[in-house]
Amino acid sequence: MTSAPADDSAKSSNFLRHIIERDLAHGAYAGRRFAGTPGDAAHHQAGTLDPARIRTRFPPEPNGYLHIGHAKSITLNFGLAAEYGGVCHMRFDDTNPEKEEQEYVDSILDAVQWLGFGWQVNGTSHLYYASHYFDFMYRAAEALIEAGQAYVDEQSADEMRAHRGDFNTPGTDSPYRDRPPAANLARFREMRDGRHADGAMVLRAKIDMASPNINLRDPAIYRIKHAEHHNTGNTWRIYPMYTYAHPIEDALEQITHSICTLEFEDQRPFYDWLLDTLCTLGLLAQPRPHQYEFARLNVTYVITSKRKLRALVDEKIVDGWDDPRMPTIVGLRRRGYTPEAIRLMCERAGTSKAGGWTDYASLDIALRDDLEGKAARAMAVVDPVPLKLANWAEVFGSAAVEPCHAPAHPHQPDLGQRAFGLGPQLWIERDDFAEIAPKGFFRLFPGNKVRLKYGVVVECTGCEKDAQDRVTAVLANVVPDTRSGTPGADRVKVKGTITWVGVHDAIAAELRLYDRLFTEAQPDAGGKDFKASLNPASKQVVRGYVESSLAALPADTRVQFERHGYFVTDRVDHTVGAPVFNRITGLKDSWSK
Ligand code: ATP
Ligand code: MG
Repeated sequence: MTSAPADDSAKSSNFLRHIIERDLAHGAYAGRRFAGTPGDAAHHQAGTLDPARIRTRFPPEPNGYLHIGHAKSITLNFGLAAEYGGVCHMRFDDTNPEKEEQEYVDSILDAVQWLGFGWQVNGTSHLYYASHYFDFMYRAAEALIEAGQAYVDEQSADEMRAHRGDFNTPGTDSPYRDRPPAANLARFREMRDGRHADGAMVLRAKIDMASPNINLRDPAIYRIKHAEHHNTGNTWRIYPMYTYAHPIEDALEQITHSICTLEFEDQRPFYDWLLDTLCTLGLLAQPRPHQYEFARLNVTYVITSKRKLRALVDEKIVDGWDDPRMPTIVGLRRRGYTPEAIRLMCERAGTSKAGGWTDYASLDIALRDDLEGKAARAMAVVDPVPLKLANWAEVFGSAAVEPCHAPAHPHQPDLGQRAFGLGPQLWIERDDFAEIAPKGFFRLFPGNKVRLKYGVVVECTGCEKDAQDRVTAVLANVVPDTRSGTPGADRVKVKGTITWVGVHDAIAAELRLYDRLFTEAQPDAGGKDFKASLNPASKQVVRGYVESSLAALPADTRVQFERHGYFVTDRVDHTVGAPVFNRITGLKDSWSK
């Protein structure tokens, strides 16, 4: 039997890597066999030496949509397996008959693949369901009973709680604790056969009612639940407790490093007790798995509690699970975050024993780092006002449009050229004009010259206004011989350059300007009401114009709108005829000072 390797964690941000490297160096798992599929000791004994150097697993419960915290677990488990020549199993921890649905199974598989990971290795699928192990779990429970290491307790839940003791007081033994194995076995089979009501009795491991670790005070391992299961239907009336099921799932799958979040640290002694006991009984293969805990990923300005996320959806505070403001993987995906950016953010957040908060801004930074070198550039006008070039005909004669070109990306010639037209009427940003320029304002105001990016220099002459004194058009003249890219074009010096699109060729588009859903960094910390800090400006929908080079953009395509930030064509609502762009993030963090 193996003993738990000494825990030398908590020192480094990659303590898991250290543990794996140490185990590999010591050959801790060198003699491990794997039969190609999960199974008990005899099954694996008949297999070959495991070609996978380590085995990890990602074990979600299919009871909701995955969120950014799960992305951390996915990148960690699949990432470590890839790094060390191992295999990561995709496993549904579906031992709880309630709450679990196929819809969630499908969306979880989709999310893992979208993040760039898979469970198919050399033609073998490592997609597993814990509910497939119910037969073994039951058999192991009978073996524990026969070995005198489990008993059926018929106390009420209240009695059991009262007898458990607390941190200062040892527990007291149940009156059923010393019942002989044969009587326990008979009772347990009655439980299995549906002869008792929910809650009438439970099967408990017989460990130590005086243990300083309350989790070792004879924990319940099987309970009665007359419920239909999404996978096994009505086969079972009893279901294993999570703390019993999980170690067995790991062992049947020959997992080496079972990585989980810190709240399971107190469960590790039971994990070890159970696997050691079942190994001794000859049921499980050795060397057995070991559990390692790390601090969960907490990200500022989001909430990740499934219950609270569900409240946002049910109360229509957001437009569904894939609302681009949701921290769900489907939400982040629709918002336009890339798998690369999410993986980068998770890696940069580090893995340690010390909890902490990762700033939401780090996701935006990772997104910019990913897209800066990849996303095509384009111009867009978010809050449009017309700019009229009064002397157009004097400068360009009868030509209605002057063709303009620009690289799709300043450093990626492979992405090609964009083409669009400069004409006598353009759309510009409303705030690029001021009737009276504030200090330091270098854009359009009467008498000032600016460059229209990729176009010409213009000199502002004034504006037109409506009865409410609102600017309805900005007026300017073209400064001759200033076409970008022509000799002497920079003869006229300007302090400002503005972006624009042609009224004649711009594409009208819906622009969904998303921002953080909460104004507070820790919206639900300390039991706070997260609905009290909703950001009223988290979604603003405007009509704007985008450059004509984007005319045939497919859905789910990312671009950088110059000066505005990164946008994506919405994967649900965008069509070529009715374009919809989601703002992913600005070019710099507008939340930090
Ligand atoms: P539940 O309350 O329903 O158990 P859960 O968030 O723990 O919710 P699981 O489906 O059990 O959901 O999670 C799957 C895996 O993802 C687990 O191994 C869990 O530890 C891990 N995980 C969940 N949230 C985080 C997080 N914020 N950071 C890192 N890992 C996480
Ligand atoms: Mg969980």
